[in-house]
Amino acid sequence: MEEIAEKSKEKKLGRFKELCKQRSIKLTPQRLIIYEALLNNNDHPSTDMIYQQVRQAFPTISFDTVNRTLLTFYDMGLAGVVEGSGNPKRFDGNLKKHHHFQCLQCRRIVDVYNEQYDAIPIPQELRERYHILNLTVHLEGICDQCKADGEQQEESECQSLL
Ligand SMILES: [Zn+2]
Ligand SMILES: [Zn+2]
Repeated sequence: MEEIAEKSKEKKLGRFKELCKQRSIKLTPQRLIIYEALLNNNDHPSTDMIYQQVRQAFPTISFDTVNRTLLTFYDMGLAGVVEGSGNPKRFDGNLKKHHHFQCLQCRRIVDVYNEQYDAIPIPQELRERYHILNLTVHLEGICDQCKADGEQQEESECQSLL
């Protein structure tokens, strides 16, 4: 399994280099490491999360550079931005068709794969009016971990009342 993940990462890096060449975007070590950080982070990182990671290799890199680079990747179609997640923007290196669940308590964003969601039809009225390229479902709520924490807390609160 891990080997497959490694291979797909290599493939993505190859595509990245190719795209940079095509659009005459200079392939700097900073850009490469930012892209790698994005690929290695399944947590839908914010600019700050990527910045903290990249800074370890490039102590002089600025937050602004990281932010601009991530937005460039988005423009190039190399990164997604999770919609509906509020501020700060959260980036996504996973370009496969998928949806999201966001926990309103811990702000965690999890990938959701669901064939039923993939097949949601776009109403004709909207199709006529707009040229629609993408439909993504964004779920919000309380995640399993936070739910379990909440139940535990409730339990201990009850106990302290006894
Ligand atoms: Zn949570
Ligand atoms: Zn995602």
